[in-house]
Amino acid sequence: MRPTQIYYEANIEQYTLGKELKERFSDISWIPIENHNNIEELRTKENSEFRNLKQLLIIGTRKTHKYVENHKVSDYLVPYTSSGCTAMCLYCYLVCNYNKCSYLRLFVNREQMMDRLIRHSNRSDKELTYEIGSNSDLILENTITNNLPWTIENFMKSLKGKITFPSKFSMVDPLLSLNHQGRVVFRMSVNPELIIREIELGTSSLDKRIEAINKMVEADYKVGILVAPIIMVDNWKELYTELFDKLEAELSQKMKKQMFIEVIFMTYSFVHRKINAEAFPDSIDLYNKDKMTGRGMGKYCYRNNLRIDGEIFIHDELERRFGLGKILYIC
Ligand code: SF4
Repeated sequence: MRPTQIYYEANIEQYTLGKELKERFSDISWIPIENHNNIEELRTKENSEFRNLKQLLIIGTRKTHKYVENHKVSDYLVPYTSSGCTAMCLYCYLVCNYNKCSYLRLFVNREQMMDRLIRHSNRSDKELTYEIGSNSDLILENTITNNLPWTIENFMKSLKGKITFPSKFSMVDPLLSLNHQGRVVFRMSVNPELIIREIELGTSSLDKRIEAINKMVEADYKVGILVAPIIMVDNWKELYTELFDKLEAELSQKMKKQMFIEVIFMTYSFVHRKINAEAFPDSIDLYNKDKMTGRGMGKYCYRNNLRIDGEIFIHDELERRFGLGKILYIC
């Protein structure tokens, strides 16, 4: 990524990564800010500026480090080295949480975050799994910071525990030769290629994602698949059937033997509709009043009857191809 401009907090040069980034992007214009959480001139931009906002890079330090309990693949969601992303998935949940500020923010105080993570994991009686990628896409972030090799190497200094993160990107090569000790769980998000092209704007193609999955398994990482989010476009059953056929044909035997699967149906919101209509006027409208219903706070989800039918369909199609017991949850 070559950002068009960088906004930065003054103290970032006190950190190794801050210094490295300053040098690496020395030919780009740097604009000082007080606080990465509230950049007035960006917060007040029009929705039509959304694409341009995604070309910016914000660099600061993370101040809040609260772990949130989780009960799916991990035990805790951990705020880590970035938030936001340069891609523009039309449904991205970060848009809901951060509205227009879903541009990529990097936090250079990684030593502090790692130290906390190692202490937390060593203090626990049982082996815990930490989700470090719930606020961003770490594979994408890694192309700028090289934080993942740093993270994996340093986390291995803890006595126990695992880390996990999801991605929609394929640039996994820097991870393949690391000594991860089987304590890193990688989860690749997949969707039909048509949905990737038209809705997951700026992410890796399905072919590249499958290739990355096979490489990660070959490097002995534990790897899962996130079928997410399922979007009920007009011919959705046909599209997902093709996707599952392709996965069955192209995932390695080793992957199919060890894989687990998470399934998430899309939720959408009033904020997404508004931004997408103004920033991507030619894109598909993901809101469908016949298929969706309100779910509080301006959010929409698929109607119950469709949803139940959809869950049965996806469950049966996955089990038929990949066997019993691979699906961790459908939500
Ligand atoms: S890749 Fe993930 S974080 Fe980035 S826009 Fe898409 S859903 Fe959001």
